[in-house]
Parts: sequence; C-alpha cells; structure tokens
Amino acid sequence: MANAVIFRDQQSYENALQVLLKSEIYLETLQIPRFCQGLVAPVILATGSLRPFLAALPHGETSISGVIRYQPFRRDLPEALPPDEKWREILGELRIDTVRPSISDPIRLRVEISSGKPFGHLIPIMARLIRGGAYRPNVPVLAFEEEHRLLVFSSEALVITRADDLLDFWMMLRSSIDLICAAWDRRFSIKPDHEHRQGIGATEIFKRLPGTNCSKCGKRSCMEFAVSLSTGKSLIDQCQPLTEDGQMERRKSLLWFMMAVGLTSGSGSNGSPNVARGQMSISDVI
Ligand code: SF4
Repeated sequence: MANAVIFRDQQSYENALQVLLKSEIYLETLQIPRFCQGLVAPVILATGSLRPFLAALPHGETSISGVIRYQPFRRDLPEALPPDEKWREILGELRIDTVRPSISDPIRLRVEISSGKPFGHLIPIMARLIRGGAYRPNVPVLAFEEEHRLLVFSSEALVITRADDLLDFWMMLRSSIDLICAAWDRRFSIKPDHEHRQGIGATEIFKRLPGTNCSKCGKRSCMEFAVSLSTGKSLIDQCQPLTEDGQMERRKSLLWFMMAVGLTSGSGSNGSPNVARGQMSISDVI
C-alpha cells in the first residue's frame, strides 16, 4: 500500500521532486485534478518504505503537511474547469499546514489550510450566502456542516474536518474557494451579516468527547454532557477523562470547536486557544 505525501506548497513539492528523482527511491506523482489545478501542489506517492523517502528530502527546503495511506478513489473525478485565477488576487498562495486523521472521525481527514492574504473582510458576506451554521462576526469565524464534514473559515485559515479522502478534500477546497470568490464578487452588492448565530452544537461536541459514558461528569452519558455543554450548563473541565494522558488531542479539538462556534468552554489556560486577541489561532490547537 502506498503512502500519499502531501506538501505544504508547490515550491516544497518541486524541491522534493528534484532531489527524489536523482535518488533511487521509487515514487509516483498524483496530479491535482483539473477542477482544483493551481490551488495546491501535486501529491507524491511513496510506494516503498517511508523512512528512506522522508530521509532523502532536502531539510529546510521542503515542508510536508501530512502523510496518509493512499487509497484509490472509488468515485469518478468531477468534470469542471480550474477555478478562475482571481482567487489568487483575493487569497494569495494557499498553504496546506496539516493533514491528519480527524479527531471526531479518525477514518476521515482533517486539513488546515492558510492563505497568503487575509479574507476576514469577506466572512460577513459569506455568512450572508450560507444558511445556518455558526457565525461569530466579532472574530470573525464562520463554521457550517456540509453533510458529515465541518468547514470552518477564519481570517487567514480554512479547516476542513472529516473529508472522506484526498478527492473529497479537493472537492471541499474547490467549493470553499468558490464561496470566497462569490463573496468577493458580491461584496458591494449585498449587505454584510453581523448577526451572531450558533447553529452547530451538541452533536459536534459529542463527537469530540471520550465516548465512554462513565458518568464522571455527573451526567448519564457523553451525549447528555454534550447537550449540557452546548447550552452553557456544564464546563469542559467537568469531563475528567479529557484531562488524562492520551486525550490531549481530543481536548484541543473540543476547545477549538467550542471557540469556533462561540461557546464558553469553561477551561483554564491549559490548552485553551487564545481568544484575548479576538483571533482564532489554528496553531493554538494543533
Ligand atoms: S465524564 Fe466525559 S467521558 Fe465520562 S460520561 Fe461524562 S463526558 Fe463522557
């Protein structure tokens, strides 16, 4: 089974390819589908052992955002033209910061992408174009569900959680770029949305809890605790298993989610994202 090595940007990919092609390491490249061309770098498939592959990469000139098991797509690639080049004018270059299994569904992917230019000024327009979801105009952060996936937009970052696979991630990325471009096109013709809304809650919280139903929080089940957290009647710290070794990623994911949708976490400083600056720092929760 091959591993798909995902690069932060085009430059990292080219630097890696230059070195790897001179080595004896066997590799294949997986081109970005046409509908996503230019947005992110192609992927290299490492078909042999991963260790020599990674060891051969030029340190300091290559940045990898993640390595995942490669599974060929079971669906056909969508037929669509590449995105209009104006996205570059709006967002600058895109960088994939991390690709890893989703905490709330480990067989799916969580991808964090940052843009070269901030687009926070477009989020109030995007909020007008999207029905439902959660929206914090003061940050600003917009989060909404797309079937089982969760998409979160902040000023310079996009987080896609629970993408099915690479193809699904590319499709979600293209849809997100189209949404940002639509907001750009209509920025002078539609009224920005400044109304806070909180349309995502208990189910997303539940997916990030340990799921043991141990009742140490005083509730009969994790779902009951999730409902209580979503209505502000409980605090994260009441779930004692979340403070145990091996639960830090889950706890960080929960803190990140609650901050993104504007819920009070009730957590102390340990692992709490920095909200004092009025910004959501993705690096706070990695
Ligand atoms: S303490 Fe945590 S793991 Fe146990 S039931 Fe409550 S929420 Fe679930």
